[in-house]
Amino acid sequence: MKKFKVFFSVSAALLLMSVSGLLFAPPFDLGWRFGHSTIVARNLAPNWTTALGEAATQYNAAGNLSFSWGPSHLDPPYSGHVAFEEIDFGTDFVYGIAESYNVYGNLCHLGHCNTTNLKADFGHVKVNSRHNGAYSDYKRFLVLHEFGHILGMGHSSFCDSVMGSVSCWPVANNLTSIDQALIGSWYP
Ligand SMILES: [Zn+2]
Repeated sequence: MKKFKVFFSVSAALLLMSVSGLLFAPPFDLGWRFGHSTIVARNLAPNWTTALGEAATQYNAAGNLSFSWGPSHLDPPYSGHVAFEEIDFGTDFVYGIAESYNVYGNLCHLGHCNTTNLKADFGHVKVNSRHNGAYSDYKRFLVLHEFGHILGMGHSSFCDSVMGSVSCWPVANNLTSIDQALIGSWYP
């Protein structure tokens, strides 16, 4: 009888955690938003074109974000643009990097952006050419993940988000309901 009571209390605790959403914490807020709902995507990563298109479609469906394709170079003007560049990182260890800048060209992750009057104005995503051979779902995960940083999403401590760690397996290779809810509330 005593064993049964212990089992029941553990189950109840798990149920409560599930109801309150604690089992699936959303990605943390990096503290900035992208300042444009119409985004010009620059494709300097031709081997990732399919993943870029799929990620754009998913973010467009989740929030008030529309995409058009811009020039394939890194020259100005930058306002409202997000560049996707493919480079050789010199190591397999790093998959991608996302850098957001405010209108003055200062990096958001150094504290130069916010969610109201100093939003991110330009984004630069770099993906590692050493992972060109990754299967297509994984490439889409990586683009969704890095672009999530551009929009202000930090990492999730859970795998039920595209902002989960690359150590999650399987990775969430599509925006989950948690991601969609967050993007929908941030970019209504
Ligand atoms: Zn990340």
